[in-house]
Amino acid sequence: MTKHSGSCLCGKVVFEITGDFESFYLCHCSRCRKDTGSAHASNLFSMSATLNWHTGAEAVKIFTLPETRHSRSFCITCGSALPSVQMSGKLLVVPAGSLDTDIEIKPSFHISMADKAQWDDELEKTPMLTGLPS
Ligand SMILES: [Zn+2]
Ligand SMILES: [Zn+2]
Repeated sequence: MTKHSGSCLCGKVVFEITGDFESFYLCHCSRCRKDTGSAHASNLFSMSATLNWHTGAEAVKIFTLPETRHSRSFCITCGSALPSVQMSGKLLVVPAGSLDTDIEIKPSFHISMADKAQWDDELEKTPMLTGLPS
C-alpha cells in the first residue's frame, strides 16, 4: 500500500495518506485562484485512499463557500492548504504542495481554463532561474 506524508508550513499539522491517487487536476477557476493566491490549485484526488492526522488535527479548519461545493482545509496558524475529505467521506482531496513525499502521478489536466487569470498565458515561456533573482 502506497503511503505519503505531508505537513503544513509551520509544522503543527502532520498527516499521512495511505493508498493511491486516481487523478491530479490543476484548476484555474476563480475560486481556486482566490483560495491559493496563485494561477491554479494543484489537487490530487482519491476515492480509496485514507487520511490520518499525525499531529495538529485540532489546528485544521475547513471553510466551505456558502451554496457551493468549493471548500478548503487549512492550518489555523499558518494558513497552509491541507487535505480534506469531501462528498460525505467518499472523496479525498490533497493539495499536491502539502506533500513531503514524491508522487508517481503526473497532472492529468489543466481544468477550468476558460476562467484562467489574464496573466496566465504561456507561462512555460517565462524565463526560468534555478534560484532567486540577484
Ligand atoms: Zn501550520
Ligand atoms: Zn477550481
